[in-house]
Amino acid sequence: MKKLFKNVNIITHEGDILEHQDVLIEDERIAEVGCDLIDEDAEIIECTGKYMTPGFVALHAHSPMNIFKGIAEDAHIDDWFNREIWPYESKMSEEDIYWGTKLACAEMLNNGITAFADHYFKSDVIAKACKECGIKADIAYTIFGFGGNCDAELVLAEKFVQDFQGDQMISPRLGPHSPYICSKDVLKTIITKAKELNCGIHIHVSETERQLQDSLQLNEGQTPYDVLAECGGFEVPCIVGHGLWVQESDLKYYNEKVCTAVSPKTYMKLGMGEGNLWKYWKQMNVVSGNDGSASSNSIDVLEQIRMFALLGKWNDKAVEMTLKEMWQVLMKGHRYLNFNSGKIEPGYSADFNLFDLSSVSLVPLYRPLAAILYSAQPSVHITDTMVHGQFVKKDGKLLLNTKEIVEKSVQCAKEIYERGKGESQLHF
Ligand SMILES: [Zn+2]
Repeated sequence: MKKLFKNVNIITHEGDILEHQDVLIEDERIAEVGCDLIDEDAEIIECTGKYMTPGFVALHAHSPMNIFKGIAEDAHIDDWFNREIWPYESKMSEEDIYWGTKLACAEMLNNGITAFADHYFKSDVIAKACKECGIKADIAYTIFGFGGNCDAELVLAEKFVQDFQGDQMISPRLGPHSPYICSKDVLKTIITKAKELNCGIHIHVSETERQLQDSLQLNEGQTPYDVLAECGGFEVPCIVGHGLWVQESDLKYYNEKVCTAVSPKTYMKLGMGEGNLWKYWKQMNVVSGNDGSASSNSIDVLEQIRMFALLGKWNDKAVEMTLKEMWQVLMKGHRYLNFNSGKIEPGYSADFNLFDLSSVSLVPLYRPLAAILYSAQPSVHITDTMVHGQFVKKDGKLLLNTKEIVEKSVQCAKEIYERGKGESQLHF
C-alpha cells in the first residue's frame, strides 16, 4: 500500500520549514521525501497549503486515570492524591482501566499524539486498549513493592515485558513507582531485572518539595535522584516523571538515556510550586509529558508545552524559551521511545500530523511555529493523523468508535461514584 502526499510543507523535528515537498509512504514507513515525486501505484493525497509535522508524544501519562477527570478539584497535591484519587483508584475495576485508557487514546489521537509512555498497573489491559485504538504506547509495568518486597509483582512484570518485546506498537519497560514508595532494595531488584531484560524504567522523581525534604531526612542527605542513582536507575534508559524539585547536584545524573517528562498544567493546578525546573531545564533533557487527566484534565501536550514556555517567559524572560526550543521539546520525546519515529525522513515510521493553518484564528502566517505553539488547537487544526502508516484521523474526523467509548466511560464513571471511596490508605 503506497500513499503519496503531494505538495506539503514539512515542519522538521528541529523546527525548520521545507516547503512544497512530496512524501511517499509505503506500508508503515516513509519511503521517500522530495520534490515532484511520481509513483503510479500510489494513492495521491493532495496537501497544498497544509503542514506536516512528526506526531506529538506524551512521555509521562497515566492513561486509565482519564476515567477520573474532574473527580477531584480545588485540592492541594497531598489531599488530591491521598484523600481523593487513591480511595477511588484502589477500587478500580478492569473495565474502568480498559475504558479509561480508550478514552485517553481517543483524546490523544484527536490531539495529534501518536505515541505515549504510560505508567500504571494492569499493563496488559492498557496494551489491549492501545492496540485496538492504533496508538503506539511505551508501557511501564508499575511496581509499588509494598512491604519492601516486589517478587510476585516482578514475575508478572517480567512476563509482560517478554510478551511485548519486539512489538512494533507496544514497547514494554518496568515502572518502579518512585524512590519514596519503593525501598532501595526494591529499586535495586527492579533495575537489575531491567538490565537483564534489556529494557528501560519509568519512574516518578522529585515531584514535590515535601518528597525532596523527606528523602533528605530519611536517606542521610540523599535527594530522590541520589537514591535512584545509588540503585542504578541512570544506568538504564530512564524516563523521569516531573523532576520539578531537581537540585543542582542532581544534574550530573543526566545522560543521553535519561529524559524528564514535564506537565506544567498539573504543577500549577495542584499548587506544586515552580521548583527548579525552569532554572535547569536545559540540562534535563526535557520532553513533553502529561500526568493524565485526573490532574491535568486533558491530554494535550501542545497545551502543556505552551504553559511551560509561558511560565518560563513571564518573569521578564520573554526572549528565552524560543519557538524553536519549545518545538524541539515537543519533538524530542521520540528519541527516548523505541518506535523509530519523530522525523519526516526516509526509513522512519509514518507517524505524523497534517495541520490546516488557514483558519481565522491562525492567519496571517508569518511564523507557522508561532501559529501552532501559541494559537492552534490540535483537535481542531490537525486534520489528519497517521500512525504506523495507518490513518487514525482523516479529514478532521477520528476513525474510532467514539460513541461507544463515551457511553462506556460515562457508565464506568457512574459506577465509580456509586461504589464510592475505599478504605485503602496510601501516602505520597
Ligand atoms: Zn505521574
